[in-house]
Amino acid sequence: MKKRVLVVEDESITRMDIAMMLEDNGYEVIAQASNGEVALEKAFSLNPDLIIMDIKMPKLNGLKASEIISKKLHTPILILTAYSQREYIDKAKQANILGYLVKPITEASLIPAVEIALKQAENANSYREQVQNINKQLQERKVVEKAKGIIMKKFNVHEDDAFKKMRKISMNKQVTLEKVAKHIILKYDV
Ligand SMILES: [Mg+2]
Repeated sequence: MKKRVLVVEDESITRMDIAMMLEDNGYEVIAQASNGEVALEKAFSLNPDLIIMDIKMPKLNGLKASEIISKKLHTPILILTAYSQREYIDKAKQANILGYLVKPITEASLIPAVEIALKQAENANSYREQVQNINKQLQERKVVEKAKGIIMKKFNVHEDDAFKKMRKISMNKQVTLEKVAKHIILKYDV
């Protein structure tokens, strides 16, 4: 599936050039915007895979727009700068900004930067997923441990037996151990 890119740049020739380079290289330009405000609108409504964003633009500059987008979306952002705007680069260290390109933009600089940004975003996503899974597992384990403790106390049994009891209920009722644990906590925990 083609990666969907939002191109934000107030100079129309530069914007169209970039869009063409992207399309020539197998990317889909889902929208173009010429200021930061429209960029926000497009980003939130279309949820692109990548945003290429100029800094100096009317209404809302690219750094401010990136900051607002980064609060809601994990979309990777590549920033476009001119040599005269080097001072901005220091500010371009927000979470979602994965790189910057100095104008004039060439295909030789744009495409590798796009590929790297997309790859890094993919890695960050899978890392986030892993962390979420680990948190979920920890949460499940906590619930099971708590329920086990309740059973041990209530029926005066050892840990192993309490666990076996829960596993038996889980198998008999064909529900997860976590569900059994939650039920036990709800029923007996006061
Ligand atoms: Mg500009």
